[in-house]
Amino acid sequence: MKKILIGTHNKGKFREIAYLISNKYKKISPFSLKIPSPKETGKTFTSNSNLKANFFSKFVNYPIISDDSGLCIKSLNNKPGIYSARLAKSCGSFFKAMNFILKKMKNKKNRSATFICSLSFKYPQKKPINVIGKINGRISYKILGKKGFGYDPIFIPDNQKKTFGQISHLKKMRMDHRFLAFMKLRKKIKTL
Ligand code: IMP
Repeated sequence: MKKILIGTHNKGKFREIAYLISNKYKKISPFSLKIPSPKETGKTFTSNSNLKANFFSKFVNYPIISDDSGLCIKSLNNKPGIYSARLAKSCGSFFKAMNFILKKMKNKKNRSATFICSLSFKYPQKKPINVIGKINGRISYKILGKKGFGYDPIFIPDNQKKTFGQISHLKKMRMDHRFLAFMKLRKKIKTL
């Protein structure tokens, strides 16, 4: 069976990417191989997903898919953006980070936000292929729902009334930024 390394230590992302990839592949996690995470030194989602793909390719000789993603909030100058994971770490948890964001948004009229995902796919000895997926929406007034992961309970996608945390995870996985990026990637890498 062909193997693919899904280059993330984030369980929520792993689950979503694994769900999208064809079952022709055995989906391997860096965690199971005891591979650490690289330092995210890039200034953009694409540079970070690229550096992850290049980093993980040092450890395996089969294809890799890596992701860098985050929540960009218009009235907060598109923050936390590439710092989404780091914000949760510095706050102590995603719950605390969501409360921190809701407090910052208290008097903001514009609640527009976008989830962005950069996916990088890399064959051994080749350069990564990059795609970007985006989903627009708005920040809720409260933390709502327990489904999904990360910032899902404060993001309401356009044309929906519920947060990603309230929508079934299966439905979310078929509409989110990662899904949209993956569909672009599948056009380029037909075997995925
Ligand atoms: P990084 O790509 O490892 O830097 O982490 C991105 C951060 O954004 C993580 O903390 C994720 O939990 C969060 N994030 C990315 N995609 C999603 C999503 O689909 N739902 C909720 N949070 C997300």
